[in-house]
Order: sequence, then structure tokens, then C-alpha cells
Amino acid sequence: MIERDMPIDIVLSADVGMEFPEMYEHLAKLDDLLYRERGIHITTLRHPQGFEWLMFDHPVNRAERWKHIPPYGYGWPGMKKRWCTGMLKTHLIFKEVNRLKRERNALHYIGIAYDEAHRCKNDPHNRYPLVEWGITEAQALQICYDQGFDFGGLYEIYHRASCWCCPLQRIDELRKLRTHHPELWERLRDMDNRARAQFGPGPLGQFKQNWSVERLEERFARDEKEGRA
Ligand code: SF4
Repeated sequence: MIERDMPIDIVLSADVGMEFPEMYEHLAKLDDLLYRERGIHITTLRHPQGFEWLMFDHPVNRAERWKHIPPYGYGWPGMKKRWCTGMLKTHLIFKEVNRLKRERNALHYIGIAYDEAHRCKNDPHNRYPLVEWGITEAQALQICYDQGFDFGGLYEIYHRASCWCCPLQRIDELRKLRTHHPELWERLRDMDNRARAQFGPGPLGQFKQNWSVERLEERFARDEKEGRA
């Protein structure tokens, strides 16, 4: 959009607070470019308390309690209770975007790639430049690399680089987390120990079906010892 001289008034980003450190460095680098080229900074939206507060300490109200036995905390997110995406990303973005659409008749440019076009919504205020220009996810990544944005090598290690603590990621990705980001792996072990102590063996305290982080640690350590990792 900068190269094509298109207007950019605001760039929004929702920070869950659990991104890889390399991703925060990438965003700072992107912010520098945006400021250099257009004189604006990225507007970062954050939930006032954040992921761990919602997971462990959020007081669950009466209306929600039918789904939750404990009075505090949503527990680990899962396929059927993905509270984090809604509360920490989409809700914040849409609230702000809807305000801008209403008050300033703004257009919302969304970075959905050509090969994910099925995710586009039919809203006259939405634009999907990558879809319009036929740029796939792989091509978009290559364009970033060509411009000197390498995400600190994250995409050379991981298939997806969203929250490092996500229980919905593949076991193979968690094995890589243990190898390449041992400090984050240790934080994940702490979070899961706390979740199991607070919520017990039910879905809220269950990191993955059939797997706690401690059991994954044992499995990965065993595989490593036996030369299978
Ligand atoms: S990446 Fe996982 S943990 Fe992060 S917001 Fe999405 S579902 Fe939640």
C-alpha cells in the first residue's frame, strides 16, 4: 500500500501478550518503517488485564457459570471454548473498526491472502488487497523477506507463529518450542501446572486432549534421549 501510494490513516494490531519476542521485534521494525514513510505509528489494542488474568483470575459471572464450575478463570482455551481469540483479538479490533467506519466512513483493509479468500466477508467497507492482487500467503512472506523483514527466523522454524502458549498448535510445533525457545517452554510448563492445580482434570485444566505439558516434556525428553527428535 505504501509503494502504491495508497492512503493509510491508522494501522491496528491486537496484542494478546503471548507473541514470540521475535514478533514484537518485527512489529517494532514495521512501526519504524511506517513512521518513516507515513509519519504514523501502529495503534496497538490490548485487553486491560490480558491472557493470564482471563485464564486464571477473571471472575466468572452468573450467566457464564453454567459452563464453568470454578468462580475464577476461563482455563485453557480449546476448540469449543476459544475465548482468547474473541476477547483479546477480534472483539478489540472490531470495536475500533466499527467506530472508525461509523464516525469517519473508514475503509478497513484486511491482510487475508489470495489462497485464504474464503475468509473474506461481504462488507462494502472492507478491502482485501492481497486477494485483489492475487498474492498468496507464501508470496506475501517472500515479499516481507525481500524487504528485509525476516521475523527473526520464526517462519523458518514454525509452521504458524501466533501465541507460543496456544494449546491448539500441533505437538510437533510444541516440540520445536521446547528446542528453540526453552524459556517460553518453561513458562508454559508453569502455566499448565497452575491450570491443573486450579481447574483439575476437566477441560479447563487440560492443555491438550490426553496431554499435559508435563507429559509432553517427558515424551520429548525421552525421544531426545533415544535419538528420535
Ligand atoms: S493463537 Fe491460540 S492462544 Fe492465541 S488467541 Fe489464537 S487460539 Fe488463543
